[in-house]
Amino acid sequence: MDSAEYERKIAHRFAAFDQDGNGYIDRADFNAAASRLLTEFGTTARCDKGQALYTGAEAFWQGMAGIADVDGDQRVTREEFVGGAVKRLRDNPERFAEIARPFLRAAIAVADGVESTGSASAPVAAVERALRVLGAEDAVAGVAARSLDADGDGRIAESDAVAALSAYFTVIEPDA
Ligand code: CA
Ligand code: CA
Repeated sequence: MDSAEYERKIAHRFAAFDQDGNGYIDRADFNAAASRLLTEFGTTARCDKGQALYTGAEAFWQGMAGIADVDGDQRVTREEFVGGAVKRLRDNPERFAEIARPFLRAAIAVADGVESTGSASAPVAAVERALRVLGAEDAVAGVAARSLDADGDGRIAESDAVAALSAYFTVIEPDA
């Protein structure tokens, strides 16, 4: 892949985290993501699912900062993201799964809507809505959500979401 394509892919991934679009990733972006998901699915921040989502968002941010905030200013710049997050996570994809899992688990519970059955999965259509509210383009959200349903049962499991997100941020390959 040429460097322009690599740069474009990095920019997409950075933009996915930079939810408020101010040019750096910080705690506010993770809180914004949690807030958007709760609004989309009509869930309050105070209920158990809402609390779990904010707790997961904070853990995700702390994990990201620990990996990528090299100068410790509580902001991850694009340079830090490329040098820290992308390179280090590529060498250690399990680490990414570890920091992202609590947020994804909580997000799936919020998207699922019904009282938690402990199955840790959500309908494909709900995950598509979640991706869209987090900034994915309509067409991308639909394709991505359907591709996450590995066993074709119409639901996306937590483990599938963790694996897919981990791959998205740690494996940067040319378009097929
Ligand atoms: Ca930001
Ligand atoms: Ca920094």
